[in-house]
Amino acid sequence: MQSTINDFSGTPHRAVTIEKGTKEANRITSERADDDEENDKMMDFRTLSGLQGRCSVKNVTVISELRDNLSIALSEKKQNVWVVQEDKGILYKDETPFTELENRKQIEVMIGNSERSVGRICEGKEPKLDVISNSTGASQKSRMSCKHFTEPENLFNYTKENILGGNAEVKCPKCDALWEMVELVTKSNMSPDEQIFFGKAMFINTQTKKTLTHLVHKELSKKILLIPSYI
Ligand SMILES: [Zn+2]
Repeated sequence: MQSTINDFSGTPHRAVTIEKGTKEANRITSERADDDEENDKMMDFRTLSGLQGRCSVKNVTVISELRDNLSIALSEKKQNVWVVQEDKGILYKDETPFTELENRKQIEVMIGNSERSVGRICEGKEPKLDVISNSTGASQKSRMSCKHFTEPENLFNYTKENILGGNAEVKCPKCDALWEMVELVTKSNMSPDEQIFFGKAMFINTQTKKTLTHLVHKELSKKILLIPSYI
């Protein structure tokens, strides 16, 4: 402290104190401005199963860059971190502009399962044919209700593709048997977030299908009513 005062040799002690006080005030004000600026570049996020936090969105232009930052904030691998909109069943693609999310209060995140094969054991000693990839391999496979086999990762990707494609049903590609949602969730080892997201997306697809079916029936019944009774 003594050396600081000596730096202002010849200046009354009181003046030094004021000078120091002003500098300190300026430093705090300047830090606060930096903090505000930094806060402006942060956004709240929450995972579908309830984890909350803040993530930098500084210089983020596309969803892929946002996933990079979220993976740091969540200490998760990028391949397991997805940006979604639960109530609409949207999973954002990497190339989607970040501007689509900028006005949202919170980023919705789905954390995937990184080790989907754990806990899945192939029944029988012989390697089974994967009904989705159509290949045989020594990897662990799930036995589906229709008695066909598939790897959890292949089943997950197949389920994801079907649901995001708007399908209200997921069927075995070999025998056309219906695979129920509960079977898809269990046998593809979905994470809690994936269960919430794909469950909701499937529900939306089912509702959309019902509405479309209803509209088609309505149109058909109108046409039937238009046919003159004497025909
Ligand atoms: Zn089958």
